[in-house]
Amino acid sequence: MPRIMDILETIAHFGKNPDGSYTRRLYSPEFFQALEAAENLLQKAGLATSRDAAGNLRAVLPGTDPAARHILMGSHLDTVPSGGLYDGAYGVAAAIGCVQRLQEEARRLRHTVEVYAFNGEEASPLGGTFGSRALAGLTDPDQPLLKGTLEGFGRRVEEILACRRDFSDAACYLETHIEQGGKLEKDGVQLGIVSGISNIVRYLVTAEGQSNHGGTTPMEDRQDAMVAMAKLIVFADAACRKIGHSLVFTAGKIQCWPNAANVVPGKVTCTFEMRNVDRQYTDELIREIQAATELIPDGRFTIQQLIYKDSAVCDPKLMEAFEKAADSLGATWQVMPSGAGHDADSIAHRIPVAMLFIPSHNGISHSGQEYTPADDVERGGEVLYRTLLELDGEIQ
Ligand SMILES: [Zn+2]
Repeated sequence: MPRIMDILETIAHFGKNPDGSYTRRLYSPEFFQALEAAENLLQKAGLATSRDAAGNLRAVLPGTDPAARHILMGSHLDTVPSGGLYDGAYGVAAAIGCVQRLQEEARRLRHTVEVYAFNGEEASPLGGTFGSRALAGLTDPDQPLLKGTLEGFGRRVEEILACRRDFSDAACYLETHIEQGGKLEKDGVQLGIVSGISNIVRYLVTAEGQSNHGGTTPMEDRQDAMVAMAKLIVFADAACRKIGHSLVFTAGKIQCWPNAANVVPGKVTCTFEMRNVDRQYTDELIREIQAATELIPDGRFTIQQLIYKDSAVCDPKLMEAFEKAADSLGATWQVMPSGAGHDADSIAHRIPVAMLFIPSHNGISHSGQEYTPADDVERGGEVLYRTLLELDGEIQ
């Protein structure tokens, strides 16, 4: 069996559900089974491994030049509930494939290589990218649910803060991942070289009207909060499309009071989430939404920011190394932004990062239907390996 697919199936079959999907939540027994399987492969390849309190696995392959800064690679081993085989585990498998090959080919790199399998990348009460944020020293000790949730997992806040890595000896971080969208497949392109990871800006929008009898209140006298919200959502969707530049908008979670079939809604709240690599476009969209609220007569609006997660820009030199490696293999590639968050986002706060995408069939992810053809899986691993060799010659 081809190398990366074999590794992927070895480390990522844990938590398989009857419907063919996978569930490996952070700190779950299934997560640690996957971690142990990855650890075994890395140890068998002769690497020293260690785990930290955040649930991250680290493996080190020393280079020949102690002064050369380390090259880091990896991704995450947790999944969403009922997730797929590839999301996260693929990047870990591709990184393991690289160090296995270096060892088998008895090739000593100048740079020390570190492989990471992160915990808790997917959304949880501890926040997304939990493990990589702990490594990058981005854990916020004042996060409201942190202490209680950690105690539930038998961990303490201080232990997580102590997971912070000193990045002064690190050169860069490389992550391979499935695209989780359908662009590569639709464009007939084999690889995506990621230009940056989108920001996540989330607001809670509240519309207030007047609750009243659904039968006796004439249409002209209504202050219907649901209608007000509906108009604003339709406006925001159209404004987002008009701005373009890969900007996306989601009105994902809506609540209505009193939520009864025969009552004019008095209050509606809805999350407005927008993402882009360039903050100027998410700023522009919220400004337009803000202005539109003044023009909708059916309700009064308030807008409260819930989350602002900054975007990360990928390093041009590292992107070029991916491009060269892809070209050397005759693979087709395109530069594209990542709409999803990734561990690379956390690490980008400390050192230059780059990401390589392989196609997701039908653009499906976070589902048991997630699928990438084996050829694409291997191609991504091969390009990562060649990139590693390229960077070993290039960077200090
Ligand atoms: Zn992922």
